[in-house]
Amino acid sequence: VVKLRNVHKYFGALKVLEGVSFEVERGGVAAVIGQSGSGKSTALRCINALETIQDGTIEVCGHAVGDPKLDRRALRQDVGIVFQSYNLFPHLTVEQNIMLAPTCVKSIGKSEARDLARDVLAQVGLSEKAQQYPEQLSGGQQQRVAIARSLAMQPKLMLFDEVTSALDPQLTGEVLKVMEDLARGGMTMILVTHEMAFARKVASQVIYMHKGQVWETGPGSMLDAPKTPELANFVGSGL
Ligand code: ATP
Ligand code: MG
Repeated sequence: VVKLRNVHKYFGALKVLEGVSFEVERGGVAAVIGQSGSGKSTALRCINALETIQDGTIEVCGHAVGDPKLDRRALRQDVGIVFQSYNLFPHLTVEQNIMLAPTCVKSIGKSEARDLARDVLAQVGLSEKAQQYPEQLSGGQQQRVAIARSLAMQPKLMLFDEVTSALDPQLTGEVLKVMEDLARGGMTMILVTHEMAFARKVASQVIYMHKGQVWETGPGSMLDAPKTPELANFVGSGL
């Protein structure tokens, strides 16, 4: 579903991605880990064409992302992305937040969109919050709504960038649970995370990034037996 080949990304003179290659197959769950500034968020943003790349190729759900003729709209219908900040619209209810993109972008009818909203809210365990406003919810609940909002577009691939970093441990757990359920349900996912236990347990593939490169990659068990001193150091640091 996702294939990065020798991707280079520069911000001016700053080389942020230097030959990044990896693949995620359908139903795969890739956990991207690495120090701050190693290029994790940038890699995710490139996959969703939020950044342009200077060299290499990215293929996502049949879209050639680096191609100047890329249909961004079609790409973004296939790819959902959730960030650390939830960015829900404060003046809309939970249900309205979720219905917005399906009705506006996909021109789905109101009642169908409402059914969709009910389905995805049930999926994240928040059926009873449909008529609440975001400020009436906890951070973890808001993040689950943000995930539900993405799911309502029925994406083929979900990208998560440190979606639990702003949450305290208990709220983190409930968001990770939703992501684990999604993974078990067969969703293809790429997630940037500091949750090593989660990466070890849920990911089919861990991608350790260091200085803009894929330094080490393998199954979750690679975290227990790092091959490079850099990963050993990173895992040892407890981040
Ligand atoms: P963190 O764990 O802190 O989120 P990260 O691995 O996600 O880090 P990135 O956000 O991908 O790191 O950033 C990689 C490098 O690219 C950093 O040195 C950062 O300062 C730089 N960078 C990111 N976005 C831009 C930008 N828009 N313009 C210039 N430099 C940028
Ligand atoms: Mg980041």
